[in-house]
Amino acid sequence: MNSTNSIEDIIKNTEGLPISETIGWLTKRYTNKVLFSTSFGKEDQALTHLIFQNNLPVRVFTLDTGRLFQETYETFERTRKKYHRNIEVFFPQHDQIEHLLKIKGPNSFYESIENRKECCAIRKVEPLKRALSDGKIWITGLMADQTEYRKDLPIFEYDNYFKIIKYNPLLQWTRAELELYIEQNKIPVNTLHSKGYPSIGCAPCTRTVAPGDDYRSGRWWWENSHKECGIHLTENN
Ligand code: SF4
Repeated sequence: MNSTNSIEDIIKNTEGLPISETIGWLTKRYTNKVLFSTSFGKEDQALTHLIFQNNLPVRVFTLDTGRLFQETYETFERTRKKYHRNIEVFFPQHDQIEHLLKIKGPNSFYESIENRKECCAIRKVEPLKRALSDGKIWITGLMADQTEYRKDLPIFEYDNYFKIIKYNPLLQWTRAELELYIEQNKIPVNTLHSKGYPSIGCAPCTRTVAPGDDYRSGRWWWENSHKECGIHLTENN
């Protein structure tokens, strides 16, 4: 079955189902091939809760870039303790990091877009590629209101770069629905969110945003390009 047929088949079998049942169906159809990537932001924490509370056999993983905020590691730890479930971790290849630091130093990403993309490729994209390599379904916490690019995404799409079907279950959720879900379920959230960080990535590349500013405007603030790092962009974008 090609990717278009697979997506049609998924939609036909899951239309109208709640998210937990849709994921349940996916885990039966694609046993041990359903993956969820979390960066411990609010959206991802809501999905982590949904997956763990319902004992869904989804492989939950995170990318530890080596440059995360301490608050993100604390959220990681609180999540492990609350749900008593392991979260897989993918770390960059040490030889690539060692080479990058030796040749360009620790903060080369501030010097040019090329350098920034190089760092993201080593610390995020390559580990993500490894993480997704034996998966069939990649669940994400993308929401339509996060960026211009994300507002037009479909719930299911084929990612040409990572060769995997993406499932974006929160796409049509509103911020208010997300906040309510988090509050009602006492879900642990990164303390940086309440300090002006709506979107949290690597510490040197994330800063606070003013109320009402774009969701991802605090990411790579010294650049004018769109605020994606290659993780959620296909080759065509
Ligand atoms: S967000 Fe910054 S530190 Fe993190 S991988 Fe990209 S360039 Fe490197």
